[in-house]
Amino acid sequence: MIYTNANVLLIYTGGTIGMVENPESGALEPFNFSHLRSNMPEIKRLNFNVETYLFDPPIDSSDVSIAIWKQIVNVIETNYERYDGFVILHGTDTMAYTASALSFMLENLTKPVILTGSQLPIGKLRTDGKENLITALEIAADKDERGWPEVPELSIYMQKLLMRGNRTTKINADNFSAFRSPNYPYLAEAGLDIRYNQSVILQPDARNPVRFNYEMERNMVILKLFPGISREVVRAHLTVPGLKGVVLETYGTGNTPINPWFMEMIRDALERGIVVVNVTQCLYGSVAMHRYENGQRLEKIGVISGCDITTEAALAKLMMLFGKGYLPGEVKELMHRSLRGELTVNG
Ligand code: ASP
Repeated sequence: MIYTNANVLLIYTGGTIGMVENPESGALEPFNFSHLRSNMPEIKRLNFNVETYLFDPPIDSSDVSIAIWKQIVNVIETNYERYDGFVILHGTDTMAYTASALSFMLENLTKPVILTGSQLPIGKLRTDGKENLITALEIAADKDERGWPEVPELSIYMQKLLMRGNRTTKINADNFSAFRSPNYPYLAEAGLDIRYNQSVILQPDARNPVRFNYEMERNMVILKLFPGISREVVRAHLTVPGLKGVVLETYGTGNTPINPWFMEMIRDALERGIVVVNVTQCLYGSVAMHRYENGQRLEKIGVISGCDITTEAALAKLMMLFGKGYLPGEVKELMHRSLRGELTVNG
């Protein structure tokens, strides 16, 4: 049920949705927001109020940074009481990273915060941006029969699907249907009606207030294994000065080579207090280190299972936990627990 007196804040950070073609180079470049509004008279026809906040300058999401994430959190914190929901227009390239980061920076959300964007600019006839934006706005304003927001969590809406933000990954560079949440059911699907999958939507803890976390530790690496990876490459990753956490992208159910130099380097990193989280390179499924001898060895030396977490969410979670000042032992413990529905713990 969409409340006619609802207020939604539309935050425009940039991305293809608001871009125009440079007539000389043919490249898409961020443009200013008046372009988006003039191409979207439909916004005025919604039966609830939409106000806008513009990032100046708008960015291509490849330029997103911790500073931009903080800016988004600040806009939401400053306006939290005044609005029923928030829609963030964002480029799709790094949207899954931003969704993951914001899911940890915004704690105990009581209102919807929805990221959306498009693969074609809103001014193009075949744009996917209009439906994405209108439906995201409707979901942000939508309440159940008790008057509570339908989806009080951080999500991504693209191409008829509403997904938990920290479960998403971009799977297609040029198809409109660019996102999936491989290991978690969709929160809603938009057909003739919007069908909410209520049993899988996060609900806030009524005893605690919403919290806004700003500190994100940037000293992280993602180490993706490949057959033939050299010691020099592994060493270069694990000896970054000030390194706090490693997202180790492994094979299958969490396996790595067990040759002595590799295991020694991982053990050495762990002894230096670096937290190493094992995340599978597979799109679907989960790490289960006990399954093979190679995995068991990692478990024994203290590598943490990321279970079915995405790389994007593992990275963001490490950034947030170290940013909050947790010690390595505490981070290890919390990495293994679901804080915002980002993983399915499998023992
Ligand atoms: N390069 C663009 C961006 O991520 C692509 C998009 O918006 O889909 O900002």
